[in-house]
Amino acid sequence: MYDLIVIGGGPAGLAAACSAWDKGLRSILIVERDQELGGILNQCIHSGFGLQYFKEELTGPEYAARFVDLLSQTGVEVRLDTMVLDITPQREVHMVGKTTGYRVEQARAIVLAMGCRERTRGAISIPGTRPAGVFTAGAAQRYVNVEGYLPGKRVVILGSGDIGLIMARRMTLEGAKVLACVEVMPYSGGLNRNIVQCLQDFDIPLYLSHTVTDIRGKDRVEQVVVSQVGPDRKPIPGTEMIFDCDTLLLSVGLLPENELTQQAGIALDPRTRGAVVYENMETSMPGVFACGNVCHVHDLVDYVTAESQRAGAAAAAYLMEDAKHESRVIEIQNGPGVTYTVPQHIRPQRVDKSCGLFFRVNRICKDSEILVTSGDVPIARFKREHLAPGEMEHITLPRALLDKAGPTLTVSIREVN
Ligand SMILES: Cc1cc2nc3c(=O)[nH]c(=O)nc-3n(C[C@H](O)[C@H](O)[C@H](O)COP(=O)(O)OP(=O)(O)OC[C@H]3O[C@@H](n4cnc5c(N)ncnc54)[C@H](O)[C@@H]3O)c2cc1C
Repeated sequence: MYDLIVIGGGPAGLAAACSAWDKGLRSILIVERDQELGGILNQCIHSGFGLQYFKEELTGPEYAARFVDLLSQTGVEVRLDTMVLDITPQREVHMVGKTTGYRVEQARAIVLAMGCRERTRGAISIPGTRPAGVFTAGAAQRYVNVEGYLPGKRVVILGSGDIGLIMARRMTLEGAKVLACVEVMPYSGGLNRNIVQCLQDFDIPLYLSHTVTDIRGKDRVEQVVVSQVGPDRKPIPGTEMIFDCDTLLLSVGLLPENELTQQAGIALDPRTRGAVVYENMETSMPGVFACGNVCHVHDLVDYVTAESQRAGAAAAAYLMEDAKHESRVIEIQNGPGVTYTVPQHIRPQRVDKSCGLFFRVNRICKDSEILVTSGDVPIARFKREHLAPGEMEHITLPRALLDKAGPTLTVSIREVN
């Protein structure tokens, strides 16, 4: 029997385990299916990690190493090469490991930190033949940065999320020619700094409101056809451009890995595709917490760390304190301009001084006001010069304000111009 089992040894799992240890839990197990801890950070060898948390610019492996070092100073047990297959409402964790075989471990609390995976060609149904040379950007990143292979020499990238942008630069630095980055939306889904540093600095054209409408080639990709799309995102006939290339990289979205969460009967939010969580990252199943990309896709790992520390501390409090006192629940609703919020529920009596709220907007907005209303009454306003769907937003709601709020709070965006 473990006090806490953490599923996933990426930055979320590492931060949650370290924080639960700091709060006094002594019987903690991290289960990781890969051969090493660190999660997706191990293949992200570019810099840009840790600017907020460490106030330093680190590479992904360096950022992960800081937490692996911290973990080594604790008594947290780690089981690598071990995949969790199932969790039950009684908090039994079924797993299979290379050396340990099939095991069922009992936990008093669980942190879900399984990260996310990439959408593939099948998920977005690109027409054309089915030759070799179509990769997800993350798979290509692993080939280049971990396995030492260059997956192609003339490349088109579909999707301008951060992984696509970073791979545009990475493939160029390794000697490939990146012909274009193509984005179906009228704006990029990536961080602004990545558009500048990964595309503009290397003269790689970004085609907004365009998509790939055909893949051609028998054994290997030979051409891709790119067409402009209208406001309905449908290709406009006559706008086709043909690129002679051998590789198409897809950076078309990430999906939280929630099969275990779903199997366990935990409530999921269709917008985040992660668990619905309370202010302390607890899911609808008491004693089960979710954090990091499995809960909602983050842009910066620093936020993953902060959120996961909260989840680890809350798991410790769940076991150590009499934290099960009744509390009313405020439901957070998405108003105009907002795609999702996390947490989706806040129990004001469980909030210490303030509660952080993450959300994403559904369009690019300039000079805006983030408005929080209780019923029809505005109770907080936050000014922002720039909001973009690719960048996660964060506001902090003080406890005093939550105490006064009604049963629902709505977050919306109003452009002031
Ligand atoms: C290409 C790319 C570039 C990025 N660039 C930046 C950047 O420049 N700056 C920045 O701050 N952030 C960046 N990020 C974001 C940051 O890396 C992620 O937000 C962060 O890694 C998410 O952490 P996580 O622990 O939630 O998920 P992950 O890192 O994905 O870790 C999840 C772990 O869970 C394990 N797992 C999953 N299912 C199971 C199971 N059933 N059993 C056992 N183990 C399991 C996985 O093997 C994995 O190790 C980037 C991300 C990517 C993909």
